[in-house]
Amino acid sequence: MSVPEKKIKAIAWDLDGTLVYFNIDFIQARKNVIEIFTEHGVDPSDLNIQKPILENVKIVKEKFKEMKISKKKVKKILKKVEKSIIKVESQAAENANIVDGIREILEFCHQKQLKQAIYTLNTNESAKKTLKKIKILNYFDFIVGRDDVVNSKPHSDHLNYICKKLNLSNQELLIIGDNSRDIEGANNISAPSIGILTFKHSENDLKGANFIIEQKKITQDLRKAIKTFL
Ligand SMILES: [Mg+2]
Repeated sequence: MSVPEKKIKAIAWDLDGTLVYFNIDFIQARKNVIEIFTEHGVDPSDLNIQKPILENVKIVKEKFKEMKISKKKVKKILKKVEKSIIKVESQAAENANIVDGIREILEFCHQKQLKQAIYTLNTNESAKKTLKKIKILNYFDFIVGRDDVVNSKPHSDHLNYICKKLNLSNQELLIIGDNSRDIEGANNISAPSIGILTFKHSENDLKGANFIIEQKKITQDLRKAIKTFL
């Protein structure tokens, strides 16, 4: 825990696990993607079903280079993969649930005239659909999905895009998320952050955050933590 240096003007919110719960069957989604890759000659033992899809995609891109598969063909395969991911995300959006107490926090931030953006590995469209479904889309000025940037989180491009769009210095943007990628992304641009601790991750995953808040205590503790940045 450390004292923030500067007042914030905006918040970049992670979506999955921070604002909403998706009921995604990740293993099935990864299986579908791995199947597409193996159909195109990738050795399944090079891929890991425990890893996020995007990490497997990175591995496969390298494999395809080694296999000398044409750029056109790679593009076609990746399009098929993207389609399969979007299908899962779209179903997930339909069944998304809001995290208890989060609406009050969004309202509080709105009252404080903070800009609010979505910082997600979902596509822009899936994120929008989700926020609409749980009726909190109106709190956000814009969404930055994985398809809006070349390099998504934890790469600095993702948050730099938000700072640039809002014309803010990095210290004026507070990042809130439940995953190590969210906090790493904030650390990569030296921006302040709050880690939301859930059963899925450990405190160690969120190291470097200015505050770590237990999700079940967000109504009290998250508001209090945000106040220290105002
Ligand atoms: Mg998350």
